[in-house]
This record gives sequence, C-alpha cells and structure tokens, in this order.
Amino acid sequence: MRTAIFNNVDLEFSGKANNYVLVARWSAAVAQTPRYTALPACREGIVTSYFTTDRHDRLREQVREFAESKVRPLVSEMEAVKSVQHTLSRLIAQQGWIGVTIGRGYGGMGLGHLAKTIIIEEISRVSGAMGAMVQASQLGVAKILNFGSEEQKNKWLPAIASGDCLPTIAVTEPDSGGFVLGMEATAEREGDDYLLNGRKVYIGNSHVGDVHGVVVRTGKGSAGLSAFLVESDRPGLSLAPHREAMGLHGFSFGELIFSDCRVPAANRLGSEGDGLAVAYSSSILYGRANLTAVSLGIHRAIVDETVAFALSRPRHGKSIAEMPSIKLKLGQMQSRLMTARLAAYHATHLLDTGQSCDPELINAKLINVEYAIDSARSAMEIHSAAGLFTDRPIERYLRDAFHIFAPAGTSDIQLLRLGETALGTAKGSWSERFARESAASAGELRADADRDGALCADKLRAAS
Ligand SMILES: Cc1cc2nc3c(=O)[nH]c(=O)nc-3n(C[C@H](O)[C@H](O)[C@H](O)COP(=O)(O)OP(=O)(O)OC[C@H]3O[C@@H](n4cnc5c(N)ncnc54)[C@H](O)[C@@H]3O)c2cc1C
Repeated sequence: MRTAIFNNVDLEFSGKANNYVLVARWSAAVAQTPRYTALPACREGIVTSYFTTDRHDRLREQVREFAESKVRPLVSEMEAVKSVQHTLSRLIAQQGWIGVTIGRGYGGMGLGHLAKTIIIEEISRVSGAMGAMVQASQLGVAKILNFGSEEQKNKWLPAIASGDCLPTIAVTEPDSGGFVLGMEATAEREGDDYLLNGRKVYIGNSHVGDVHGVVVRTGKGSAGLSAFLVESDRPGLSLAPHREAMGLHGFSFGELIFSDCRVPAANRLGSEGDGLAVAYSSSILYGRANLTAVSLGIHRAIVDETVAFALSRPRHGKSIAEMPSIKLKLGQMQSRLMTARLAAYHATHLLDTGQSCDPELINAKLINVEYAIDSARSAMEIHSAAGLFTDRPIERYLRDAFHIFAPAGTSDIQLLRLGETALGTAKGSWSERFARESAASAGELRADADRDGALCADKLRAAS
C-alpha cells in the first residue's frame, strides 16, 4: 500500500494502477478549512429556474457541499504536485455522479443532461481539473448507452454508476487531430478477436480510466471505423508517461498505445462500421455539453473571485469596484456569464425533453468557451499585478479556461458546423436520432417532477 499526504488529508491506495483502495481520512484541520466567501456571481434563480426543478436544486447543493469540503482543500496541493489525482477521482466517481444519465434500471441516477451540467459546473467552479475528470467519464458513458448491447450495458453500466469503473472515449490521434476520418489506428479481425494497433492522444482520463471506448479503422472511408471497449489492463495496451500541461493539474489527458492488443469481438460496440457514429454522437450529445459545463463552472469562479477582489481593493477611499472602468468590465463579465449559462441550460434541457438541438449544443460550447476565456482576460486586467501570483486562483482559472478550447472541437470547428446550419447543409441531427435515449436518461427527473409539481414538469412529461 502507498500513502500520499495531501494537505492534511491522508489518502491510502495500493500501488496497482486502477485498483485503488480508498481510505480517505478527512482530518480535523481540513474540516475546519474556511469556506469560500466570495459573493455569488448571479443569483441562482435568474436564468435557470425556467429549466430547473427542485431535484436539480437539491443536486446542486449536494455537489457544492462536496466540492467545497472535499475538493477545495486539495486544490493548492494539486497545483503544486501536478500529478494525476487517482484517489480523489475515485472518491468523486463513488458519489454516483458519473452515472447521472444512466437509468435506475442499471444502477444510475437517471437525472439526465441538465443534471449532468449542474454536477460538472459545481465541481469545475472549485476545480477545473476535477470537473474535466467528471465530464470525461460521463462522456465515456454515451457510447454504451447509445450503442451497447443489452449484455454490454448490464456488464458496464452498473459498475460505472457505482464509481468502480471509469470509462473514457479515445478517438483523437497525433496526426489527425479533430479530423476523425484521418485516423490510422487499426483493428484487424482474427477469429473471435480483433488485434488493435496504433496510438490515441489527449484522451480525457487516460491515466485513471478502467475501460476505454476506442474508435479505430476496420476498413476504408467513413464506413471503415469501428468502436471497441478495451479494458485498461488488457495486454498490448500501455500508457505513455503523464505529461505536465499548462493547466487542469490533477486531470490526465494522455496517450494510449496499442500494440497487438487482442480484444474479443464481444467488446465491439454496435456493428463494424458504426465507429464514426459512435465518435460523432458522443462528441455532439455529451462532449459539447460536458465541456460547456466545465467552462461555465470556471467562468462562475472567475466572476465570483473578481467581484470579491474588486470590492476588497481600496482606491481613493473607496473600492476599485466603484470605478466606472472596473464596473463596466464587471458588467461585461456578468453579461457573458448569464448568456453562457442560458445557452448551456437551454441546450441540455432540450436534450432532456427529447428535442432536436445539435446547433444549440454546438453554440453552447462555443459561447461558454469563448466567454470564459474573455472573462478570464477581463479578470486578469482587474486584478492587475496581484493576479499574476499563484496565491490567488485567478491565473489558474485563466490557464484552465484555455484547456477547454480544443476538446470536442475548437471554436473554428463549432463555427463551421453553425455555418452549415445557417446554410441548411448540416448533415442530419444526432439529437434527433438519439432523442428517445436522451429523454430516457432523464426518466427519474420526470418521476420527481411529477411528485414535486416542479415548474417544467409539463415539458418533461411531454417528452415521456
Ligand atoms: C483537455 C482535453 C481533453 C481531451 N479529451 C479527449 C478525449 O477524451 N478523447 C479524445 O479522443 N480526444 C480528446 N481530446 C482531443 C481533442 O478532441 C482534440 O484536441 C481536438 O479534436 C482538436 O485536435 P488537435 O488539438 O490535434 O487540433 P487540430 O485538429 O490539429 O487543429 C489545429 C488547428 O487547425 C484548425 N482546424 C483543424 N481542422 C480544421 C478545419 N477542418 N477547418 C478549419 N480549421 C481547422 C483548428 O481549429 C486548430 O486551430 C482532448 C483535448 C484536450 C485539450
């Protein structure tokens, strides 16, 4: 057994990868860590109550309490050591939140996509790295829910929902980047197995994942991609060493190397040729929304922190918040945050109610990433020299916000897709194709809304 001491928190785990025995002892010192006191960026109800139910509000409180008490005390240590947070990742998964869109029948929460946004937003508000960790494995759920056989669902979904298994999705390659069809990794059929060869890079949760959803070539062209579930301890699969990045310290987005990795045909998701659909649908329906939520959480932290700073920084007998130029910048940040949040909640509400919403999901990612980065710049300007030092979180927020630019498509890629929407040349709608599955993922929310008589109960009921 190895023991790591983080900020007065003892975390014990066995040295075997992905088999961590969690013995977290939250010391008295951590329990007494002062709570976050910055002013809230926007009153909770303003842009959200149209979409949220009491169940969402209870979930938010629960996640926020966890993030403040269990994640925040570890953040400075995570920034200092910059290593992958195996034990904290597992502890977060064990709260059941990776299974928020998995139905109760498979052990999940069945609360849908807006609830998923709230979970990621609240964790990311405290730690972008752990928010990214949560989203990466929630993204890994999509392919099993939408393409898994009943046998595969029964095998994997309960373990994911309980936090015992962290899934990933592995599509990107060194030379093809965001151009999925340019991938070169292969799977060759050999009897009842496939032999996988090639490399996947920038894979979210690469170093904590237990089962990787890998898309590779089984043939030529767009019909030549197929998806496989590959357990992390399978011979022939190895990890490149963890590389330090600019931000998101504690999160891994590293490299998987396949070298004659033998995978049973029973691990194939869907049919041969379904790989492109697995990759695209996961990216649009989960990836866009998840990264939207990470940006939103970071953005909220940026605004909270900057308002608190501006109010506390004296100038001419008042605070700098009274100066018109500062108030104007704060107003711009608040406006961006409200618009970004509205886009995020609207898009996921449409998913939960089984409506066609690919452009809304794409736009939400674009708006949230761009606005969080814009607000990070405004925040740095308001902090001026004070923002450059690592004793304040603002430079961390700036670094973390930039990390959300590339995954699930850069802003140029989102704009290209929205251009196709404008021109009427968009090719199909994943939200329409998987409307039943998306609405089903919020089944428990509908049951709760019925009981609570919540605001959007009618809309949720209409989707069932
Ligand atoms: C934090 C993080 C987490 C990630 N998680 C995952 C994951 O879980 N699974 C996974 O498979 N991948 C993941 N990725 C990889 C991510 O999907 C890629 O970074 C993304 O697809 C872009 O690829 P690239 O970075 O290689 O850039 P490239 O595709 O090489 O793009 C380089 C530049 O060219 C532009 N460009 C590219 N193509 C076009 C085009 N057709 N038209 C106009 N401009 C274009 C881009 O906008 C960009 O500015 C993650 C990346 C990050 C940073």
